[in-house]
Amino acid sequence: MATLITGGAGFLGSHLCERLLGQGEEVLCMDNFFTGRRKNVAHLMANPNFELMRHDVVDPFKVEVDRIYNLACPASPVHYQHNPIKTVKTSVMGAINCLGLAKRVGARILQASTSEVYGDPEVHPQPESYRGNVNPIGLRACYDEGKRCAETLFFDYHRENSVDIRVVRIFNTYGPRMLPNDGRVVSNFIVQALRGEDLTIYGDGSQTRSFCFVDDLIEAMIRTMEQDQTVGPVNIGNPVEFTIRELAEKVLGKIEGPSKIVKEDLPSDDPMQRKPDISLAQKVLGWTPNIELSEGLDRTIPYFRQCLGL
Ligand code: NAD
Ligand code: UDP
Repeated sequence: MATLITGGAGFLGSHLCERLLGQGEEVLCMDNFFTGRRKNVAHLMANPNFELMRHDVVDPFKVEVDRIYNLACPASPVHYQHNPIKTVKTSVMGAINCLGLAKRVGARILQASTSEVYGDPEVHPQPESYRGNVNPIGLRACYDEGKRCAETLFFDYHRENSVDIRVVRIFNTYGPRMLPNDGRVVSNFIVQALRGEDLTIYGDGSQTRSFCFVDDLIEAMIRTMEQDQTVGPVNIGNPVEFTIRELAEKVLGKIEGPSKIVKEDLPSDDPMQRKPDISLAQKVLGWTPNIELSEGLDRTIPYFRQCLGL
């Protein structure tokens, strides 16, 4: 089995490369290294089944593969808002290029969509049937609407051209190989606590998220690709919900030091609550995440300690 992973040198992509190589598959990792790093996959370079290719998904490409995981897209608000027009291009033109390839070579293709398609949800927890509450002209729209349009393209290629698609909607996921300057909340809090800096809560910290450890997430992604019961979309994430203040307190409980909690302005359109309804994933994938936040943090903190040279 030959698999193309776009965005394969990023946080999730590098774990996916590692898992598939471990199963004896051939992996072609494509990345433009915007938020991905060569060192995320450096330990895989000696494997003869692994190939790394610098390429931007916005530009067309031709390769012979059986499976495509389309992960290329910056995921952190800081990074996807850095060049919002490019973010839309990456999601939309990247999806068109990947789907065109899948159609040409008959590959099965999975889209890494996101809980952001639900925007600031008015239905809680969010089932796949909820159509969302996204501001189409806000600062997060380049990511949210880009990902929504990518889902549209996946389903149109499926209906019009019989492309064999799978779509997962990923909820907040964390773990080793996130960038220390990624800007997402788990990495920010751990890095701040390790440096003895104050933890920056945006708003009053009462907004909620549900955090999934990367190993659980990768398992669900592969299971979605390899099952035949549904094309999706399938929510994947950990349904245990925390306020951002609770997360900050948990991190401070694990990393001793002088850090305190400080408040900063809440960015615009920041969703107030988020928690996946994972009943579909439980039914069709036979999957439930089993790494709870405390254990996941214990597995993530040493990685950041090493990154910071502490
Ligand atoms: P990440 O930023 O670490 O990885 C994204 C990868 O895509 C990086 O390696 C980056 O260099 C690459 N990339 C970006 N633009 C590209 C382009 N134009 N051409 C080629 N490569 C490009 O983020 P991640 O957390 O690993 O996210 C991976 C995917 O999963 C993304 O599509 C993201 O939207 C989705 N997702 C992640 C989460 C999460 O919590 N981690 C949640 C929802 C969805
Ligand atoms: N957040 C925070 N402090 C930080 C970074 C993020 O309070 O240093 C908040 C952010 O406002 C949001 C939540 O944590 O409410 C999750 O943010 P993240 O960027 O990780 O992901 P997303 O908003 O895309 O779920």
